[in-house]
Amino acid sequence: MSKYLHEEYVRKFEDSLFYNKVQEPFPIYLDSILRNFIENTLNLDKDVDYIYKNSFKKIVDDYNYDNILPEKSIYLKISTSKLKNLESKKAHSNNPCEIICGCLQSGSFYDLINKKIYISIPEYIVGFLQDNNLSLKLNKMLNNELTESRLKSAIYHELSHWVRDSLNNFYLSDLFQRALNCSDKEKANLIRSAGKKQKDMSYYEIDAQIHGIKQTKIYHGDSWGKLTLNDLFYMYPTLMNVGTILYSINSKVFKIWIKDLVKRMDRENLLGKNMRIDSYEKILENNMV
Ligand SMILES: [Zn+2]
Repeated sequence: MSKYLHEEYVRKFEDSLFYNKVQEPFPIYLDSILRNFIENTLNLDKDVDYIYKNSFKKIVDDYNYDNILPEKSIYLKISTSKLKNLESKKAHSNNPCEIICGCLQSGSFYDLINKKIYISIPEYIVGFLQDNNLSLKLNKMLNNELTESRLKSAIYHELSHWVRDSLNNFYLSDLFQRALNCSDKEKANLIRSAGKKQKDMSYYEIDAQIHGIKQTKIYHGDSWGKLTLNDLFYMYPTLMNVGTILYSINSKVFKIWIKDLVKRMDRENLLGKNMRIDSYEKILENNMV
């Protein structure tokens, strides 16, 4: 994306804040600009495998074979210079960061201000797993937090944020900086969410969620045609959590998000046959824990 487009995008976005109601979808003219850099997925497969092997693999094996809970600590700290996929290499030359994997207090996130990429099994997950009084559903969902598929999805998700930001004139850093500088809380939220009601519905979060789904498909590819959206939400619990948060705002907000997500999955050839027939609302009704 050229600098000109980037500036235009930010300017138009800022203009749009004066008449864009919070619930309204992202304005159409911005869509066409954004399409330039969110139309296809990145290939970060090798790097995701490399990071997983050197960080979470042992933790996941210990838990699944010997029921040993993850230790609260850092498992891996490396520079992005270690990454080998073409787009990662380009991103590193623009925007070197440190990757930190572990069982941390926070969840996973790309810290664009301090140049760190955190990929985490949040400590509260371990706390939950120590509790013997969990419902079956919650137990199943928590166990899915400690699978190869899920943790690789988390790695893919965060790496994709970093690569997109680094290769597109730091659009994400700009967005966050603008939100930080904005004293009106509601307006700041709107900037951070790129015009949507909530950050997880923004085009850049959906883009990262799509990379997490792409990884889930790599892992469960053989059975993809049989899986429903409901199964996918279990395998990649981030989707369940986001869906639940949005549904608690209201069902309309949830529907806007899932329609955007499914539309993008369809475009990227990530929508399995059985995922087309799921009713959106049933996903959450079936899984409220
Ligand atoms: Zn994200």
